[in-house]
Amino acid sequence: MIYRCVSTYSLNFNGRILAIKEGDITMQDTDAIVNAANSSLMGGGGVDGAIHRAAGRALVEECRIIRKTQYPAGLPPGEAVITSGGRLKAKFVIHTVGPIWMGGKKDESEILKKAYRNSLIVAEKSGIGTISFPSISTGAYGFPIEKAAPVAVSTIAEFLLKEARSVEKVYILAFTPSDFAVYRRELKLYGESFNGSKTPK
Ligand code: ADP
Repeated sequence: MIYRCVSTYSLNFNGRILAIKEGDITMQDTDAIVNAANSSLMGGGGVDGAIHRAAGRALVEECRIIRKTQYPAGLPPGEAVITSGGRLKAKFVIHTVGPIWMGGKKDESEILKKAYRNSLIVAEKSGIGTISFPSISTGAYGFPIEKAAPVAVSTIAEFLLKEARSVEKVYILAFTPSDFAVYRRELKLYGESFNGSKTPK
């Protein structure tokens, strides 16, 4: 078995924390984890497949009901819905659909921002305190990570600063060391431009 050294880096916004962590999102014990799903909500590849495999059948059954009752045509990009976590350590899974990268001229950044923001709004409605995000859209959907990271960090940071009530700690889970490096740099830059307290670990 390979043991990976888990590193984190975080910013503190008036007591609410945004942290970057390297690892597998399916192993996280935050109240909720976010799934970078596709519009079908029926599972797929990448992080979506990993979450469905780890959570078990309950997840797809709940997603089927959501499709039937709320989104017969599929969950539109930028929207978010919540299910239980099935067999996961996390009690909830928030499913959101990121944008497919089309070269940057199809409002991809705006849709990515909505995906993060709506996931946080859904979390608030369920009184969730801690939540883990994957790097939405930067895998199969092809959004360049250097462009996606500033959107992810600024959207979560602004939410923690201005709107959060129940949400106290947000992790971005980077799956590879190079993804971790991108988000860490972005968080550092955000911390330096923002006059907040910085707590590197
Ligand atoms: P999208 O279709 O939104 O691009 P992907 O699942 O293809 O979604 O990729 C999104 C990100 O999730 C990628 O950075 C990928 O490396 C990462 N990823 C894949 N599996 C996991 C996992 N188990 N935990 C955390 N991140 C993961």
